[in-house]
Amino acid sequence: MISYQIVEHGKPLQRAVMDTPKPQGTEVLVRITRSGVCHSDLHIWDGYFDLGGGKRFYVKERGCIPPFTLGHEPLGVVEALGKKAKGVKVGQKRLVYPWIGCGKCAVCKAGQDNYCVSGSRFLGVNRPGAYATHVLVPDPKYLVDSSGIDDSFASTLACSAVTVYSAINKLPPLVPRDRVAVLGCGGLGLIAISILRAKGVKDIVGCDIDDAKLAAALKQGAKSTVNTRAPDAAQKLQGIAAAIDLVGAPATAALGIAALRKGGRYVICGLFGGELVHPLPPIAQRAIGIVGSYVGNLQELREVVALAKKGKIKPPPVETRPASQANAALEDLKAGRVVGRVVLDFETVQ
Ligand SMILES: [Zn+2]
Ligand SMILES: [Zn+2]
Repeated sequence: MISYQIVEHGKPLQRAVMDTPKPQGTEVLVRITRSGVCHSDLHIWDGYFDLGGGKRFYVKERGCIPPFTLGHEPLGVVEALGKKAKGVKVGQKRLVYPWIGCGKCAVCKAGQDNYCVSGSRFLGVNRPGAYATHVLVPDPKYLVDSSGIDDSFASTLACSAVTVYSAINKLPPLVPRDRVAVLGCGGLGLIAISILRAKGVKDIVGCDIDDAKLAAALKQGAKSTVNTRAPDAAQKLQGIAAAIDLVGAPATAALGIAALRKGGRYVICGLFGGELVHPLPPIAQRAIGIVGSYVGNLQELREVVALAKKGKIKPPPVETRPASQANAALEDLKAGRVVGRVVLDFETVQ
């Protein structure tokens, strides 16, 4: 098999050729055809998350130690099965749910693998990921049939779409006239706009610092946009019922939380970094909720796939590039040059 690996954090990925693993027990070997490139790949590539105040969380502390293969938006074809792997056949195309837990703890047994408390096995985060021709999946239950959905778009459902779907599930009940802000209109922001629309929210405000991304947000179905660097940004956002923060920076949080109406909810998904400093009394007096959301569970992925199959989710722009351009794709994402999503094509890799 071939993979593109982090050999040293922050340095270009390197192409590696190694033995293709043989699936054991319930394991399934999937030959990757598409692999989405996600913003969180950049942090793992760098080797740390910025916690603010000069503090960092190093990815090696959760088991990501080079040489390491990124990639947590895998789509591919079942190539081989362990003896105990049931319910899927060789040759079937499947989307891989990457947020795999230990499978044994009470949280995993309740279907919340993404919140596993005793040893997560997240593909591309602390287990070999999908910037590779092959990936080993611990159990067929983590495979989802996405047939009928464009392959490149389908791969992005495994992280970007399920992440925003789960975040939107954390909003209080909304009526169509409620205004909801989407902070950050990159790949996740655009899919968030699609999913909010699919859920009946009409008044969506796309927020970003990049006018090209704001234009894409309008095309995607946002009713209005706010350039968050504009002097009147706070005034324009005032009174929002909720916000999905896909940036997760001190500036977005300060702006968005201040703009919430009483009883509003702020959901933080973005991992840009920094820290939140907020006076305590107004959180109670305004009865606002500030909640985090991290990826999504397997059932949520199935629901997202079902919505996409029905054509209810308008795909954001998706650019498919040869896998050999993995480094260029990461560089473009880092520099803010990507509108929508980049997906690597592993079918033609040599
Ligand atoms: Zn991701
Ligand atoms: Zn677990």
